[in-house]
Amino acid sequence: MNKIIVCLLFSVFSRLFADIASTPASGHSKHWDYERNGPDTWLHKFDHCKGKSQSPIDIQTSQVRYDSKLDNLNLTGYTNINTTWNITHNGHTIVVTPSKRTKISMSGAKLMDVFNLLHFHIHWGLNVYQGSEHTIDGQKYPLEIHFVHNTTSNSRLAALGVLYKLEPTDNVQLNDFLDIISKILNETTMIEQQVIDISKLLPPRNKTNSLRFYRYNGSLTTPPCNEAVTWTLLEYPVPISARQLQVFQHNSVRWNFRPIQKLHTRHVIANFKPESVNNEDKHCACETKNNGIKLNYTIMFLLASLFINFLNV
Ligand SMILES: [Zn+2]
Repeated sequence: MNKIIVCLLFSVFSRLFADIASTPASGHSKHWDYERNGPDTWLHKFDHCKGKSQSPIDIQTSQVRYDSKLDNLNLTGYTNINTTWNITHNGHTIVVTPSKRTKISMSGAKLMDVFNLLHFHIHWGLNVYQGSEHTIDGQKYPLEIHFVHNTTSNSRLAALGVLYKLEPTDNVQLNDFLDIISKILNETTMIEQQVIDISKLLPPRNKTNSLRFYRYNGSLTTPPCNEAVTWTLLEYPVPISARQLQVFQHNSVRWNFRPIQKLHTRHVIANFKPESVNNEDKHCACETKNNGIKLNYTIMFLLASLFINFLNV
């Protein structure tokens, strides 16, 4: 009998020690990055990552629905805010967090509440032809910044995405921010209490001071990929040059964008009428015009051939 109890105890303790020993291994299996444990592996380790409402997506402008009831997007505190920021590196991206008492928020535009800014972070690529997470009609952009907001009333997040577009000349408005970013190379580097004018990170407003944007329901673009994010993606990108993008070349993270995910049954709406229809019309008109020119050349060639044959006869 005693032997049985000893055996049982041994068995229990063996199992216990085995579990403890395996803990680091199982913890390691949840490790993710953009290299060996990159986006292709995430859905095998994090259940949410294989959901049907994942982000980022490709915004196909011809499929976007104009919603006249989408009222203005209110970004409060994004301009003229007198606050300091902490800039850190979490091993995946550079994270910029406002000091606690700062009131920077996003509201309106059918958002259910006023969402307060938690932080913003950056997605970049290996070269200047990639880096953004969202794409527009299949086009990639070299950089995308995500401003992440939450609210106390529910568990959803409201994310504001801003795309950056490659231009031949520097955007001097970004210089101060990029100087700071260039110093945040890895998890050992951080800067505290830094003044940043985030209005310079947004596209310039139009004459009516309103922002044009796309809206859809999606997820975190990093594990655990929770599908609890209301996405607002600004239409106009901010210019940035190849020289300015070099600040990311020395970062310990070489690239950090997740590939686009399927839309499934979701729809993207917008507070404006995307112009792809006109572009398509232009494209169709060009095609028709080109076809017409080709037809004219063919007729001229046939007539010339007939005329030469006639002369030979
Ligand atoms: Zn992000």
